[in-house]
Amino acid sequence: MMREESIRIPFRFAAGRAGSRMLAALRDDKQILGSHCPVCVRTLAPARPFCPECGGENLKTVELGSGAVLVSWTDMPGRGLFALVRPDGADTAMIHKLLGQSGDFHIGARLRAVFAAERRGHIADLQGFEPDPGSAA
Ligand SMILES: [Zn+2]
Repeated sequence: MMREESIRIPFRFAAGRAGSRMLAALRDDKQILGSHCPVCVRTLAPARPFCPECGGENLKTVELGSGAVLVSWTDMPGRGLFALVRPDGADTAMIHKLLGQSGDFHIGARLRAVFAAERRGHIADLQGFEPDPGSAA
């Protein structure tokens, strides 16, 4: 006989230099940061301390746009929509929430970032992405 349960394990860890800089930018400037790798010549989202492709640590922090393109998403019942979104200016996608109903979205859709009114230096300061009504995509 099997039992299926879930457990909650809260934990804290240091965000690191790149992560801390990104969280501060979300809180203070409603700005999403990425990292540009000069070796791979690509910009990663979100900001990180090293390039996962070449391992290089000489990354330059760059400001990404608040617009984005929807790469993929899934509906997690009871938890909402989670997506891979590629912020403007980035070559890679990041995981975050979609704000809306599944029928509001399609792959390739233009999105815009939604920030919390009160921000505290947490990834939830970026509440998620919603359809960009100013886009014809
Ligand atoms: Zn690289």
